Amino acid sequence: MTSTNPHAQSVGLPVRQGIRGQSPYGAPQLDVPYLLNTNENPYAPPPEVVASIVHEVTQAATGLNRYPDRDFLDLRTDLADFLAHESNVTLAAENIWAANGSNEVMSHILQAFGGPGRTALGFTPTYAMYSEYARNTLTQWAEVQRNDDFTLDLEHATATIEELQPAVIFLTSPNNPTGTALTLAEIKTIADAALRVSIDGAPALVIVDEAYAEFRRAGTPSALELLATYPNVAVTRTMSKAFALAGGRLGYLAASREFVDALRVVRLPYHLSSVTQAVARAALAHSNVLLGKVDQIRQERDELVRWLREQSYQNKSLIVSDSDANFVFFGKFDDRHALWSALLSHGVLVRESGPEGWLRVTVGTPEEMTAFKSALVKELSQ
Ligand SMILES: *Cc1c(COP(=O)(O)O)cnc(C)c1O
Repeated sequence: MTSTNPHAQSVGLPVRQGIRGQSPYGAPQLDVPYLLNTNENPYAPPPEVVASIVHEVTQAATGLNRYPDRDFLDLRTDLADFLAHESNVTLAAENIWAANGSNEVMSHILQAFGGPGRTALGFTPTYAMYSEYARNTLTQWAEVQRNDDFTLDLEHATATIEELQPAVIFLTSPNNPTGTALTLAEIKTIADAALRVSIDGAPALVIVDEAYAEFRRAGTPSALELLATYPNVAVTRTMSKAFALAGGRLGYLAASREFVDALRVVRLPYHLSSVTQAVARAALAHSNVLLGKVDQIRQERDELVRWLREQSYQNKSLIVSDSDANFVFFGKFDDRHALWSALLSHGVLVRESGPEGWLRVTVGTPEEMTAFKSALVKELSQ
């Protein structure tokens, strides 16, 4: 795009170090038939849910001259009820926090608990946004490499925690882009190491990002079960993925009341609009319908993993990471960008993510999966 401002080139801006020259994060948003690159739920909300959302938004619109409920206790109560139903944990509204996507929740976390002189730690390959929130809050960012199969190297992890004394530790389960879930035993090992850290006399915090938790395979527990015994653990969730509400922008967190109260200090006043609150509450009232496709997506996912493992590239079977999420990570390709472009030429958009040689594909509808498979077969046989 060319700028229409004749001075744009010459003025120069005092962009601070760390931000200068950086580009905004985001997957390409292209207008192609098969969008398999951002892990959305492919099923749009059904008409009865749309009608209910419209009704609630209409109600909210009658009061838009007023600021929204700043502490959104009704929505927090609904979220606590949802978690009680989904994961069998008892939480009060005061244990819940929410914001415009779980990304904003994480940014609140680093605003409250990170900052100059403090370190946040993640386990790569993982979600690229954590390091950006660290950058934005002047928090030092540190990484521990995962094993070759993307599981955690617990010895290395605990040694690094002891050495670096991070204030905040991000665990992503299931992990993006690899799909890898952590066991409760693994999370406990990290949480115990975090308890031995001293940040001005307080333990390190462990944030378990469960953006994809609803897709986990049977028998994979949620870290919500640890909240009662580990006061230094918090779990983030989102309505963007399984809940089929990415456009609604609602992410949330469960933690101790003390933890939530610290986040309330850094949030912008009225950060959750009345419209957002109305949309989220209407969607939560239909959680069974909105989550109704999750089982089908999980089956489609397992089938896709199995199918990909039967495919080969240069006479070698593809390597496919086990997945507890709604996407599958597969490789390795000499030139993943070439394959990504070739798939795009068939109208199939996947994601170049994580280490070189790997691609990530979101599980879509059966029709989308057929298009992906046939495009991939064509390109692998080239
Ligand atoms: C998609 C995703 C999120 C959720 O983002 P929202 O801001 O809630 O839309 C959080 N964490 C990870 C790892 C994700 O992939």
